[in-house]
Amino acid sequence: MVVKQTAGRDTLGEFAPKFAQLNDDVLFGQVWSREDKLSLRDRSLVTVVALMAQGLVDSSFRYHLTTARQNGITRQEIGEILTHAAFYAGWPKAWAAFQMAKEVWAEDEGKSGKAQHQQEMVFPIGAPNDGFAQYFVGQSYLQPLSTSQVGVYNVTFEPGCRNNWHIHHASKGGGQILVCVAGHGWYQEWGQEARELHPGDVVNIPTGVKHWHGAAADSWFSHLTLEVPGENCSNEWMEAVSDEAYGKLN
Ligand code: MN
Repeated sequence: MVVKQTAGRDTLGEFAPKFAQLNDDVLFGQVWSREDKLSLRDRSLVTVVALMAQGLVDSSFRYHLTTARQNGITRQEIGEILTHAAFYAGWPKAWAAFQMAKEVWAEDEGKSGKAQHQQEMVFPIGAPNDGFAQYFVGQSYLQPLSTSQVGVYNVTFEPGCRNNWHIHHASKGGGQILVCVAGHGWYQEWGQEARELHPGDVVNIPTGVKHWHGAAADSWFSHLTLEVPGENCSNEWMEAVSDEAYGKLN
């Protein structure tokens, strides 16, 4: 995608046409636009830190903070970025940058955990998972991504939410694959230690294995679930994961 920028021509087009052209067509039109080489989000991160390190808190810094927010840097992340950069660029520069960042991210302040979680994830959270609610503790959401060939669904768990112990059955093939996409969660097989899950983790669940999956107590969590094709597939739902057992994990 080509990043369209007219600030140079709008502001300096008559006074400094070459500078305006380099700004709009080269810096933005060619360098910022190399999205396939470095994402807009990462380019925003680099730019914000570079400007902050010079002590710049002018209108261009405000523009780049606003762009960083649009490019997906969250309120929590800009806090981390400026805190980290403060040690290398200088404490007073971070103070100055924070004053402006607070204003730019102000409207995210009241944002729900669900909205923040959605901001971290490319797949939609989807609708409340009412069809399976009886097999879950807490609120979950379901978004079908593929309903032909191989079924792929995005399942989102609010903090503390998990499904009951269950088994995926099949007479041939079958089972389930989880691909973790956002947040922090847990997977546990009967008689085994629970395994922490983070974005990028993949869990292969064979048929016949009693298990559960869900969010951590303090985090939203989403995984894709892939239904491995098989014959006579069914799910056997069992008892809930007790608050006591779940509480020990977190
Ligand atoms: Mn399962």
